[in-house]
Amino acid sequence: IFVAPTSDERRRRVLVLLNPKSGSGNAREVFNMHVTPVLNEAEVPYDLYVTKHSNFAIEFMSTRVLDAWCCVIAVGGDGLFHEIVNGLLQREDWAHVLPHLALGIIPCGSGNGLARSIAHCYNEPYFSKPVLGAALTVISGRSSPMDVVRVQLQSRSVYSFLSIGWGFISDVDIESERIRMLGYQRFTVWTLYRLANLRTYNGKISYLLRDQDSPEPGRSSGGYGGQYRLQSSRSCNTHIDKLTANPSLHHSSTEYLPQEFADVISLETSINQSFRSRCDSWLSGGSRRSFYYSISESIYHSLADESEFSGLAAASLENRQQNFGPSSELPDLSEPLLKEDGWMVEEGEFVMMHAVYQTHLGIDCHFAPKAQMNDGTIYLILIRGGISRPHLLSFLYNMSSGTHLPEVNNEYVKVLPVRAFRLEPHDNHGIITVDGERVEFGPLQAEVLPGIARVMVP
Ligand code: ADP
Ligand code: MG
Repeated sequence: IFVAPTSDERRRRVLVLLNPKSGSGNAREVFNMHVTPVLNEAEVPYDLYVTKHSNFAIEFMSTRVLDAWCCVIAVGGDGLFHEIVNGLLQREDWAHVLPHLALGIIPCGSGNGLARSIAHCYNEPYFSKPVLGAALTVISGRSSPMDVVRVQLQSRSVYSFLSIGWGFISDVDIESERIRMLGYQRFTVWTLYRLANLRTYNGKISYLLRDQDSPEPGRSSGGYGGQYRLQSSRSCNTHIDKLTANPSLHHSSTEYLPQEFADVISLETSINQSFRSRCDSWLSGGSRRSFYYSISESIYHSLADESEFSGLAAASLENRQQNFGPSSELPDLSEPLLKEDGWMVEEGEFVMMHAVYQTHLGIDCHFAPKAQMNDGTIYLILIRGGISRPHLLSFLYNMSSGTHLPEVNNEYVKVLPVRAFRLEPHDNHGIITVDGERVEFGPLQAEVLPGIARVMVP
């Protein structure tokens, strides 16, 4: 009897992208020596692609048919992983691909914050054999949802899984390139140099605190996939009619709004602009929070099947061809942020802002000890101008052990768990980094997309 292979059986190959230039330039040797034997022993079939240039992984992940692969492994550093995430999120079918493609990393870079964070979150040792540990993680086949942060710069959007920085730490990361010949010591040397020549930057940071009633960190949810509970558009309309008939719900906040309803609205919203304005008129900011999500390919097809929606769905497809990627719930970067919507502000002189969503920024930088991969939280860490040099030095020194943050916020050092923020520098120069890479200087805003990616875990 012929049994057709299930889709799981068809999708079991592993895609490996290897950056031969990462770290000290021996990723290829590391892969052959320490990873290939593990994959062979476990009889895991894989396809290896060696990156040919910068942005190779973005091009690869954004344009290839990926159906044959169950996961993609970056053999390199955080920069390579960043390219993979960004390539995937540029795809028209990102919402369909992302839940089915687990992302893994074999640490071979000079920046290995993600690999270190994953090991830390799962109480795995890292330092004795990081590559072997990561290879075993790959064959374990387990994965967990991971938050990704959408960063809107003036000219474009990028997706980030690690950090956004402005000021001291970003300066040290980027400026110390000029003493690269010192190897890892460059960070220490440049930190001391910058401490002696301390600069501050003027700007405004607005943020939305994480909801107090938001799901607790670490809860086991279906991640982004959980948003796909699809009700028929008809039942959605029934909900709307019920709500419209009940004026007391017009100022509705999330309590009044069943999650299923919010989910359906969110995908309807991305289909139809007039539908959106109809919803907007009686949903306040709170409920609009659930409107992050744009429509997945599969949902698109199921809606397209319903004749009453097919016209709208086709219009939506046209829209999306101009603008792929998850939709944003934030106002445009040029629009003001309103206090009524919950925005809070810190303004003045800053030594730095660093926003992080993983525990480690590098193998010995335990920057946000409370961070979890799927907690929908950006830890916004601010250091104000006026901080004393000894205080700043102890902050920087204690970063390696994760004991640098105060229990309670003080005048100079603040830790804010947020789900979105906007940075508006008032100076016309400075350094801003996303996942450790320099990006254009200027205003930016960021919002967390909870659990949107899947990452391989031990
Ligand atoms: P590291 O942690 O050492 O910086 P990464 O793997 O993160 O190593 O890579 C850093 C950057 O190298 C990536 O952002 C990517 O753009 C670039 N890159 C990838 N492949 C190549 C290549 N074949 N040649 C040169 N640069 C590359
Ligand atoms: Mg997190």
